[in-house]
Amino acid sequence: MHVLATPIEYLKGVGPVRSELLKKELRIFTYEDLLMHFPFRYVDKSNIHLISNINDTLAYVQFRGKIVRLEEKGLKRSKRLIAYLRDSSGEIELIWFKSIRWIKANIKLDKEYIVFGKPSFYSGRPSLVHPDLDIVDEKINDQRGLHGVYSTTEKLINKGLNSRAISRIIRNLIPLLQNNIDENLSKELIDKYRFPSKQDALINIHLSKDLKELEKSQKRLKFEELFFLQLHLIKTKIIRNNKSIGYSLLHLGDNFNNYYKDHLKFELTNAQKRVIKEIRLDVKGDKQMNRLLQGDVGSGKTIVALLSMLMAIDNGFQACIMAPTEILAQQHYETISNELSEMDININILTGSIKTKARRELLEELVNGDVQLLVGTHALLEDKVKFNNLGFVVIDEQHRFGVAQRAKLWKKNKYPPHILVMTATPIPRTLSMTLYGDLDVSIIDELPPGRKEIQTLWRSDSSRLKIIRFIREQIKIGRQIYIVFPLIDESAKLDYKNLIEGYDSIVREFPLPDFQVSVVHGQMKSEDKEYEMQRFVDGKTDIMVATTVIEVGVNVPNASVMVIESAERFGLSQLHQLRGRVGRGANQSYCVLMSGNKISSDGKIRLKTMVDTNDGFKIAEVDLKLRGPGDMMGTKQSGILDFKIADIVKDNKILVYARKEVESLLDDDLDLSKSENINIARFYRPYARERMGWSRIS
Ligand code: ADP
Ligand code: MG
Repeated sequence: MHVLATPIEYLKGVGPVRSELLKKELRIFTYEDLLMHFPFRYVDKSNIHLISNINDTLAYVQFRGKIVRLEEKGLKRSKRLIAYLRDSSGEIELIWFKSIRWIKANIKLDKEYIVFGKPSFYSGRPSLVHPDLDIVDEKINDQRGLHGVYSTTEKLINKGLNSRAISRIIRNLIPLLQNNIDENLSKELIDKYRFPSKQDALINIHLSKDLKELEKSQKRLKFEELFFLQLHLIKTKIIRNNKSIGYSLLHLGDNFNNYYKDHLKFELTNAQKRVIKEIRLDVKGDKQMNRLLQGDVGSGKTIVALLSMLMAIDNGFQACIMAPTEILAQQHYETISNELSEMDININILTGSIKTKARRELLEELVNGDVQLLVGTHALLEDKVKFNNLGFVVIDEQHRFGVAQRAKLWKKNKYPPHILVMTATPIPRTLSMTLYGDLDVSIIDELPPGRKEIQTLWRSDSSRLKIIRFIREQIKIGRQIYIVFPLIDESAKLDYKNLIEGYDSIVREFPLPDFQVSVVHGQMKSEDKEYEMQRFVDGKTDIMVATTVIEVGVNVPNASVMVIESAERFGLSQLHQLRGRVGRGANQSYCVLMSGNKISSDGKIRLKTMVDTNDGFKIAEVDLKLRGPGDMMGTKQSGILDFKIADIVKDNKILVYARKEVESLLDDDLDLSKSENINIARFYRPYARERMGWSRIS
């Protein structure tokens, strides 16, 4: 057995109790797992400060001195232990609110200590709360230098495994590793970038002597992590493009041509034309297409989807489009049915609310091939849904679909259908490289002509009357209004109350019979939602009061004002999506962001960004910086963006060159069979096997 595979309980300082906890709490089972448990930050303990020199610019300080006095102050919850530490320059208070008895019993008044902590100031007087204490002894050298801080948990801390204790057991591990860590980069790469060896990098990440050494090691480990992910993504893509057989949609037949010539109500934008050509080129061949279509809200993705599906139908295949919500599916169904109303195509819709008998009939028509174009929600993924010959799948607003779910759809066929994934949230390049590194990407970077830039205003409660007047004016000239309340968690009672109160006051401000107000929220039955939504779509109501259920996709060109209540509570991409609901027609449109006065600094940045720009890509960049990639893409659970050390926002330069290196490596040695790439190949094989488990593409 490789030493790294040794169960963690065999390590000095661990034992059976701690090993159980390490397994449960941190999923550390083996030596290797522990080795890969990197510090999440470092503190520099190389300087010893003088107590008299302390000032509030130092994040952490370290003193060397003796504790001269102990004192307990306060009662019950304000009870605290104060130790007075003195060095040659002065005195400082060390304070504990917890474990008072234990600390008191263990502090030795005659010994010299190294004390480390974060200084705080109460009425100008400095103190250290819950500092680290180490008695100065012959091991003093271990206590100095850079110290890693490890993530741990409450339960582990209770068994004595705080960050420092984890650091200590890692120190026991390091000597066992000598010459047991296999290099996984080629000599060429190591030389080119002057990387330390993998072994040195792993040791330094835990026990660095200085910052330079640490940074080199971090860089190497980040590179390595991004390199292998890119290697996997690009290799998968190349192999799939070379091998994966797909249905050839060779002909452009009557459906595509007739629709394009006779029924398309507008001229396509150049960007739409370009994307359709890209898709056409893909599906003509005999390889399966996997394409990501990025286009800002309102850029006209639906028509691209429709034309693509017609290509499939022209070649005798079925096509489907999957939307994340029932309302959206419904809207797609209506749009598509409308567009194709004069053509002879059998279109149907499958959602969760379609009842047993109708469903049974539909499923039968689907499996015998009568239904040519199916619109649906997640319901399409159920095992019972079987197509006759599914040739083309469109997935709209994809990031709401889980990874595993997507894979399911393409298991329904002999060959996988062509896949077009459409996202309305533009994705920064570094992120799409990682998340969709294995997809081909098309971008619609142009809005249909004649759109007026949406004006975005940020207002507080004091402007409410003005806003109400403005809304009345807009309704008077025939426009419709959205008013959106946050309902982040559809079951949150408080949010629900806010919505209902908001609705009541809106109805008071906009009374019948002059005004018609609709309301849609998550606690309504889906038929009722549908009904209310439909009334708004048909122009029968003036105001739509809603939660974020309208967030994605809904298309009402006559709506010209989007008011977002408690806008500071929404994420940037949500705000951008919501704003995208207006400005869809020829009218000047407005987005009003209502906020309270107490807003976090991130909240302010979000609202200011919205006021400053309509550009979805710029907004996405800010969003990525604020939220980090996992949250932004809703992929936190999926594991795709779980990096040990790399951060695709901060390390995007490393990502870009890792990707370049991967591309030139694969150009030269696609199956990694050349001897100079043996290190890479040896590491990659098990890596790829593990990744396949959650790969998006089967
Ligand atoms: P999204 O990309 O957000 O899904 P849609 O496909 O819903 O956008 O399109 C938004 C609106 O723009 C729709 O009303 C659609 O009919 C219209 N549209 C799409 N393409 C064009 C075009 N080339 N010229 C004019 N209007 C267009
Ligand atoms: Mg859309």
